[in-house]
Amino acid sequence: MKKFIKKSLIGLLTIGVLTVILIFFFPQVLYVSALGQKMLMKMEGEQVAEFYFKENQTSKDTLYMKGIIYSNTLTDIKKVLDNNSQITTITMVNVGGSIDDEVNLVASQEIRKRNINTYLPKNGMVASGGTDMFLAGTKRQVHPTAKLGVHSWSGGDKVALDFPKEHEEHKKYLNYYKEMEIPTDFYWYTLKAAPADGIHWMTSEEIINYNITTDTKSELLSLQEKLSSNEFKGRGTGNNQLAQDLITTYFENVGLKKFNNTYNSPFTFINKKTTKKREGTNIIGYIKGKKYPNKYIVIGAHYDHLGIVNDTIYNGADDNASGTAALLVLAKHFKSHQPEHSIIFAAFDAEELGLHGSKFFVENPPIPLEDIQLNFNFDMISRNPKNEIYVVGTYPYQQFKSLVEKVAKTSSLKVSYGHDNPNDKTKDYWMFSSDNGPFHKKGIPNITFSEEDHPSYHKPTDDFENINPTFYKNVVKLIQKTIENIDQNFPTK
Ligand SMILES: [Zn+2]
Repeated sequence: MKKFIKKSLIGLLTIGVLTVILIFFFPQVLYVSALGQKMLMKMEGEQVAEFYFKENQTSKDTLYMKGIIYSNTLTDIKKVLDNNSQITTITMVNVGGSIDDEVNLVASQEIRKRNINTYLPKNGMVASGGTDMFLAGTKRQVHPTAKLGVHSWSGGDKVALDFPKEHEEHKKYLNYYKEMEIPTDFYWYTLKAAPADGIHWMTSEEIINYNITTDTKSELLSLQEKLSSNEFKGRGTGNNQLAQDLITTYFENVGLKKFNNTYNSPFTFINKKTTKKREGTNIIGYIKGKKYPNKYIVIGAHYDHLGIVNDTIYNGADDNASGTAALLVLAKHFKSHQPEHSIIFAAFDAEELGLHGSKFFVENPPIPLEDIQLNFNFDMISRNPKNEIYVVGTYPYQQFKSLVEKVAKTSSLKVSYGHDNPNDKTKDYWMFSSDNGPFHKKGIPNITFSEEDHPSYHKPTDDFENINPTFYKNVVKLIQKTIENIDQNFPTK
């Protein structure tokens, strides 16, 4: 008996010594177990991810998270969410990365599946795998002082960009970002942003451009600012390639469908003033409706403006970067909230030279014209000193009036009607002054949102600095709700 104990003790000792030697020379063996990962993190002065509520936290709808994601994180997260169905938000205080990417992606999918939001609080930080998990939030908010870090990855002696673009290793990340509705550009950007052992802290512009936050209102303003920056040269027809690229890239990232495999719809027209032949390009994409896939609503806005006249850039922030940016964020909105009718998003060119883009569209529609049930048009919607927006078109198309009014009542804006009755001599008639005109001529119902002219109308002072952000955001909110109300309660006549 004694002998046996001795032997087994020696055996245990041998195993112990061998383990210590193994861990000393090959610490990565610790990675295979959760306990090992905990020890390893401790050795590096880090901690593995833990979830907690704050002391004195009365409503436990916010869960806090801190530490490095590891092999137990999936189990941990499931457990805490299962036991606390009231949780709506995970606040990521400090999540510097993950030591188990497979678990990280599945745990992140779990967050999205349960429709949980993520928040980066004041002085909060996520990096690497922590950034990936942050993207799983259905709604994602970032405090201005918080930081998001990204970098490339490496495996063995290869770095990510050594693998061909189609390689399996890329796919698991690309699929993940796609699932989270993050543009796939984001992945390629992270690979170039910093090497695997470095980190790049995202700029606020990058945070907006890659949809890191879901605050579409600030995206609205940043799109308008970009479209009306000097770089875009006033988006004059024939000189608006940058604007075209921005719109097509945006459509691509949102995932709008194409007609005939392209968003671009080029056309020619005769400029009445110069009698010269000119070229323009409409940019068109669509979303299939879930209930009436063959009935269409066309949402249109012209993206062109006056361009450069006598060496002066006419930026046209209000006319009509405002309508264009609204069109873009609405395309994104409806992509994640599928409408009942199919919706075509049409950024029209050459409006300023005589509504040529929209004329071309109704003469050469990508679908039978009789399938277009309604056209919405936005032209100049971001500044008005009286907080007043006009809804134009409900006089000839009265079937929409009560649906518009119902939404208007919930808005803080002064919503006015008019400019759509040819017999009302107190107001200019707007039914043919913007891209709604060609639709109206064809008898297609149309509703235009526009404000009355301001001193900067068609002046070089129509700049981003002079718009009214709150008014603009409220108008876009009104537009979105109006479209939703009409889409879901479409009048029979
Ligand atoms: Zn305009």
